[in-house]
Amino acid sequence: MRALRFTDWKTPPELQEIDDPEPGAGQVLITIEAAGACHSDLHLFEDFEAGQMPFDPPFTLGHENAGRVEAIGAGVTGLERGMPVAVYGPWGCGRCHRCRQGMENYCERQSEIGRLGGGLGADGGMADKMLIPDARLLVPIGDLDPVVAAPLTDAGLTPYHAIARSLPLLVPGSTAVLIGIGGLGHMGVQIARALSDARIIAVDNREDALSLASELGADHTVMSGESAADEIREHTAGRGAEVVIDFVGVDATMQLAAQVVKTLGHLTVVGIGGGTMEYSFFALPYEVSLATTYWGSITELMEVFELARRGHLDAHVQRFSLNDAPKAYGALKDGEVRGRAVVVPS
Ligand code: NAD
Ligand code: ZN
Ligand code: ZN
Repeated sequence: MRALRFTDWKTPPELQEIDDPEPGAGQVLITIEAAGACHSDLHLFEDFEAGQMPFDPPFTLGHENAGRVEAIGAGVTGLERGMPVAVYGPWGCGRCHRCRQGMENYCERQSEIGRLGGGLGADGGMADKMLIPDARLLVPIGDLDPVVAAPLTDAGLTPYHAIARSLPLLVPGSTAVLIGIGGLGHMGVQIARALSDARIIAVDNREDALSLASELGADHTVMSGESAADEIREHTAGRGAEVVIDFVGVDATMQLAAQVVKTLGHLTVVGIGGGTMEYSFFALPYEVSLATTYWGSITELMEVFELARRGHLDAHVQRFSLNDAPKAYGALKDGEVRGRAVVVPS
């Protein structure tokens, strides 16, 4: 089968022919129908080097996956051949307290396990097929289009989890500032809109991303840059925002977030841009809570699918064939993707 392999640090991925995996006991083989291209993959093969991640190449990329059950290993019950499924991306131990709560993203044994999930240390879904090491990691999607479901597993789930933590603040009259309206951010706008009546201010440095944000329900859009903080204050009658979520995470966006978050607000950094911001007694308004978030729980993923089924959340996708998967990452890097680039192998 074909697979887009991450072969070495600081090296672009390469399409290779590899053997079809076979499911052992408890495992499931799926045929991939869609695999999203996440910006984290760009960080992986462009920015990181050996020792910074708890795993090493080689492995197949792709950590946003959906497809159909192709073969079922011994002892697996409840799944049938041909059943449409999505893959819950963060793979923990499955047994610790956090994993039992459905939060494999925060598995207590992650450091012992090494790999973070399929496409992140283990073979992922930018391939014709993907081996799922445990049936518990599959979520049946029913009649949801796999091309939509795949990006929902990360680009949908990650902002859903980040917004969920701040939902009590998003009362009518409050403001959510979402920075970076790409794969994650364009879902974030829809999720904030569906779950709250807060004023949504979308920030990006691309006009196209801002126009998408408006289409998806943002109340205001702001081009990032020197005047962004002032513009956001104008939109909030000078008060700033209860919730700021930074889907970029570079110095400029984190500093903008700090400038516009208000007293008792939440500032959440989701983007892995490697930026820093000042934190000291006087650096932020009183009682601002800071958090980074990583992915989300499997029950939140079910909620994200439900939001999509009920028509509140739609992934805007640009399709690429598996042979063109490197081009999907090229387009992502060049800022040419509106929403999410999704690889469709067949
Ligand atoms: P993306 O490339 O699709 O979107 C990023 C968006 O940010 C683009 O629209 C881009 O124009 C915009 N942007 C870039 N620089 C900006 C700036 N200075 N000011 C305003 N906007 C700017 O990326 P994505 O796949 O949505 O991922 C976003 C970030 O989130 C990446 O760093 C990725 O690694 C990270 N990520 C984190 C998690 C997590 O669990 N924490 C999960 C998935 C992705
Ligand atoms: Zn990702
Ligand atoms: Zn665990």
